[in-house]
Amino acid sequence: MTEVDFYELLQVERGADGATIKSAYRKLAMECHPDRNPGDAEAEAKFKTINEAYECLKDPQKRAAYDRFGHAAFQNGGGGTPGGGDGFGAFSDIFENIFGEDFMGGRGRGGRQDVRRGADLRYDYEITLEDAYHGKDAELTLDVAAACDACEGSGAKPGTGAQTCATCQGHGKVRAQQGLFLVERTCPSCHGMGQVIADPCDQCRGEGRVDQTKTIDVKIPPGVDEGTRIRVSGEGEAGARGGPAGDLYIFVHLSRHQLFQREGTALFARCPISFTTAALGGSIEVPGLDGEVHEFVVPPGMQTGKQLRKRGAGMPVLQGRGHGDLVVQFDVETPTKLSARQKEILQEFRETETGEECPESAGFFDKLKSMFGE
Ligand SMILES: [Zn+2]
Ligand SMILES: [Zn+2]
Repeated sequence: MTEVDFYELLQVERGADGATIKSAYRKLAMECHPDRNPGDAEAEAKFKTINEAYECLKDPQKRAAYDRFGHAAFQNGGGGTPGGGDGFGAFSDIFENIFGEDFMGGRGRGGRQDVRRGADLRYDYEITLEDAYHGKDAELTLDVAAACDACEGSGAKPGTGAQTCATCQGHGKVRAQQGLFLVERTCPSCHGMGQVIADPCDQCRGEGRVDQTKTIDVKIPPGVDEGTRIRVSGEGEAGARGGPAGDLYIFVHLSRHQLFQREGTALFARCPISFTTAALGGSIEVPGLDGEVHEFVVPPGMQTGKQLRKRGAGMPVLQGRGHGDLVVQFDVETPTKLSARQKEILQEFRETETGEECPESAGFFDKLKSMFGE
């Protein structure tokens, strides 16, 4: 994924509105459209990246996340999102499907930002690979500014109310003539809120919110990976004076597993086997995260680095169907503690060797000999 700033890519200001972004995108897309630049790989790459940028900035939710977290908002740790590819798929899917109602509710927020809106919060949450496999009902405890109980978030002493700001007549902005120019700025009396409180609440000193320790239940879906983000709408900081709350972004981290490493939906395990099993064949059992014991039949002549794969025994697909594969990679272990009797047997074995048992080693020494002209 590109790391170039999306706003720079589209050549617009950070505060540009939707229409401006759209027309900037159209102009650029026309310029570097592959149909107009056949065979021009650079134009094609640029076309791709501006599309990426526009996909993000045209959506108020994605844009807000991007403004807050930059490209990190869309990067999916292992990069193993099947079908998605660019990370956006996983990003919007997880929000829409899990927090469907909240997501739709939050959507109307687009356009001009409410100055009272609470800040978004980031919460880093580490889970085990087992929990990532099965999903988890998590209970998160966080210190967050919540709406003040005493004044119900209004900031005004109970029984009193807020008045429309006299300075700006409730607009939140004031205009002043400066020389030839008419300058608009945030109202200094109400700080853009449009209302002032004559009699502030004692509990929150007129802020409408107080710091609280909050417990939030969150469903972590099966298949999450390192870097998966989950947005919990409205669970960020409370808004000032009854303004809308921000969102909570949970960043998932996976703790190290003693047996498995994950790559996308595949689970990898390194499996040491004895040299006799490697030579003669045998079978090994690997306990999967699905609770089953998976048997792998090791054919005679197994080599270090070779893999065996069991379809469907890996990680579940996030927000999708099915599972990845379970892959074991073998390490042949050379014995280090041999009894006198075992040494004798191996000595005897060596005397029967013709070189054809291990063609690769034999071939290697032949190569060396020919290099030195023997
Ligand atoms: Zn209060
Ligand atoms: Zn005002």
